[in-house]
Amino acid sequence: MAVEQMIVTVMEAVANNSLVWTDLDIELKAYAKEHHVPIIVDEGLALLEQIIRISKPKHILEIGTAIGYSAIRMARVCGSQITTIERNHEMVEIAKNTIQRSGYEKQIRLIECDALEAFDFVKDTSFDLIFIDAAKAQYQKFFELYTPLLSTHGIVVSDNMSFHGLVNTQDYEAQSRSVRGLIRKLAGYQEYLLKNLNYDTTIFELGDGVAISVKKD
Ligand code: SAH
Ligand code: MG
Repeated sequence: MAVEQMIVTVMEAVANNSLVWTDLDIELKAYAKEHHVPIIVDEGLALLEQIIRISKPKHILEIGTAIGYSAIRMARVCGSQITTIERNHEMVEIAKNTIQRSGYEKQIRLIECDALEAFDFVKDTSFDLIFIDAAKAQYQKFFELYTPLLSTHGIVVSDNMSFHGLVNTQDYEAQSRSVRGLIRKLAGYQEYLLKNLNYDTTIFELGDGVAISVKKD
C-alpha cells in the first residue's frame, strides 16, 4: 500500500473514530476513570488499531499492561500474539482477571516484572510491533533495550508523547519540578526518535500524542 494512501486510511480511522466497544471494554474504561488508571485514549487507540490492521503484526510487545485494556484491544484486531509487561502487582492481578474474561488468554502472555529487567524473558521472540506505554521517564531505555528484538520493518508506537498536553507547553514554568523533569525527558525522547537514522518517525498530535517509528532497511 502506498504511503500516502496508508496515511489517509489512518487519518480517516482517527477522524471517524472507528472503534467498536464490547461490554468488557466499557467496564474497563469506567474502572480506569474511577481509579485514575491512565489507559490509552480513544483517538490514540483508533490510530493504534488501524496501524495493526495495516501492518498485521504476528507478535506485539507491550510495555505497561495496567488493567489489560490495550492488550485485549490489540489482541482482538487481527489475532496477533501479545506479550505484555507490568511491574505493579495489583495491576497484574486485575489484568490476569480481565484477560481471562476477555477470552483472549491464549493470545496474551502477561509478564510481571519491571520492563527494564524483563529482557531475558522475551529475548527469544521477534516482535513486529512494540507499544511503549509505561513510565514516561524511561521511554528511551525501553526503546534501546527492546528494539534489537524488532523484525525488519517493525514498528514502535510510543504513547503519551504530549503528556496530557504538557510537552511543548507554554506553561512549563508553572509545573512542579517532577512534572518539568518528565516533560524534559519526553521532549528528549522525541528528539532522540526524530534524530534516530535507523527509524522513520512521525509524531501524531492526536490522543495524548502518539509517535510511530518504522524501522528502516
Ligand atoms: N497500556 C495500558 C496503560 C498502561 S498505564 C492501556 O492503555 O490500557 C502504564 C502502566 O505501566 C502502569 O500500570 C505502570 O504500573 C506500568 N509501568 C510503569 N513503569 C513500568 C516499568 N518500568 N515496567 C513495567 N511496567 C511499568
Ligand atoms: Mg498511555
